[in-house]
Amino acid sequence: MGGTKFSVGLVDRTGALVLESRVLTPRGLDAEGTWAALKRLVLEVISGANGDRLVVCGVGCGGPMSSGSGEVSPLNIPAWREFHLRGRLMELTGFETFLDNDAKALALAEGWLGGARDTSNYVAIVVSTGVGGGIVLNDRLLEGRLGNAGHIGHVVVVPEGRVCACGGRGCLEAEASGTAIAAITGGEPAEASLDVIERSGALLGRAVASVANLLDLSLAVVSGSVALGFGDPFFMAARRELATRAKLDFSREAKIERAGLGATGPIIGAAAVGWRGLFANGSEAGASSWLPAARMSSRSVDVSGPGHDSASKGIRP
Ligand SMILES: [Zn+2]
Repeated sequence: MGGTKFSVGLVDRTGALVLESRVLTPRGLDAEGTWAALKRLVLEVISGANGDRLVVCGVGCGGPMSSGSGEVSPLNIPAWREFHLRGRLMELTGFETFLDNDAKALALAEGWLGGARDTSNYVAIVVSTGVGGGIVLNDRLLEGRLGNAGHIGHVVVVPEGRVCACGGRGCLEAEASGTAIAAITGGEPAEASLDVIERSGALLGRAVASVANLLDLSLAVVSGSVALGFGDPFFMAARRELATRAKLDFSREAKIERAGLGATGPIIGAAAVGWRGLFANGSEAGASSWLPAARMSSRSVDVSGPGHDSASKGIRP
């Protein structure tokens, strides 16, 4: 669920995308009108299940949100403020439903099947309208007090830089997001000059260096329309800046790579949120450990439903 599109899909336990359907995010509708557009999409996709047994609903949504209560107030979907998305989806589908930030969902997907498959310590970053991130350390997705860990978009990269929507100044999002680039250049990011592309990449590299130094992680996988659209010059500038700024023995080897899943990352991430929630159910120790659960789902495990014994065996304590 984002400011550009709503995407609903069926993903199997191996992470294969079976079916996907999308609509542009409705504009100018109220909360119920916006929900109606999503509801149509969900029902359409469920009716395409063709006898496959559906067991859980996972959601990746732009923040902020309260994943505990299931209420969302996405900055890019103004019709929804404290909208009870999880409750509505549970009511509509009858499935247990789990909800998380879209960038954290992408981090799960990249660790499950994408560019961070073989890495236990990494950050996944989305550079598009805004800048989001999700961090995995020791195979565990970081949550924080309210579930907001990973907001790399608000790491300061330009002291006394541009004012940020968060109220701060010089945040990565205020300097290198699609919105910021449009404000700086007066044009679409797709038309940005090489200077702007390289500056944006360098600022991303600067933020990644801080995170690598702080958290001892070895990889940043980067996705999002702005980063992928900018391509090589953006990534090369990011790597140069990272090499200049991450100099500790443990951070020197850190790398910045394109995310592995491309356009399917967000929907597979939403599925990973669902699988993770299902597997973690009934196992407090496993509640923040997603990777073994995700790996289990590709084996022949009987996923009979929430709390089922065989579904919680593989959770690492
Ligand atoms: Zn900020």
